[in-house]
Amino acid sequence: MRKNIVAGNWKMNLNLEEAKSLAGELKAKLDQLKTGLVGDNRSIPEVILFPPYVYVTRILDLFPNYQGLSVGAQNCHHEDHGAFTGEVSAHMIRSVGATHVIIGHSERRSQFGEVDLLLAEKVKQALKHGLTPVFCCGEMLPERENGNHFQVVADQLQKGLFWLDKAQLGRVVVAYEPVWAIGTGVTATPAQAQEMHAYIRQLLSDTYGEAIAQQTSLLYGGSCNAKNAAELFSQPDVDGGLIGGASLKADDFFRIIQSF
Ligand code: PEP
Repeated sequence: MRKNIVAGNWKMNLNLEEAKSLAGELKAKLDQLKTGLVGDNRSIPEVILFPPYVYVTRILDLFPNYQGLSVGAQNCHHEDHGAFTGEVSAHMIRSVGATHVIIGHSERRSQFGEVDLLLAEKVKQALKHGLTPVFCCGEMLPERENGNHFQVVADQLQKGLFWLDKAQLGRVVVAYEPVWAIGTGVTATPAQAQEMHAYIRQLLSDTYGEAIAQQTSLLYGGSCNAKNAAELFSQPDVDGGLIGGASLKADDFFRIIQSF
């Protein structure tokens, strides 16, 4: 069965003290949830935190051998090592104990010119070094308005992922993040999210077979918050969320975690 996942993308926010305090608060709440002190502990999703690179080890240190919580990086370089000043490789990220990496976030695509072929190289690096790629796809507003959103997402998946073999694809998490919903306060409706997720799952099934399609976690991202998460996550093909703004507040993020 595929996993439910709630992932927090902290982007370029928080100083170290704030980051530690957010993670610490979250840990206290998760401890209470796991031990049945608060809420319903029957449907706890996997939680993944994506702090800025410089905090990754510090956040990992707060969760030694903690079941169900992972830490990842928000990006990686497409080469193993070398003269790439300012960059961080998948190999380095794995070597400090992180397990996941976001690849293809729309902010990387639009602000840093990351194109599909480069993203495919990053996916290759992540898998080579044992990281789980959380691969983002999603259309811009004019593309949806023109009715091209399915084609845009299909292209991104074709070029970024669909050259992988079955075993490799089985290690990927996909996040559908319509660009018009990211950080805007405009959320896709549950029906819009479900429609696209069902489409992505069908593409996975057509390309890799039904078993892989059914085991791949598909996350929704884009102004998902404590109020709308439950309805989004109740859609049959929405397996959780990649959360930006609302992951910066422990209370809100925890409520999202409890939304299954
Ligand atoms: C994101 O950046 O991945 C994201 C979903 O952001 P937000 O939740 O703030 O829209």
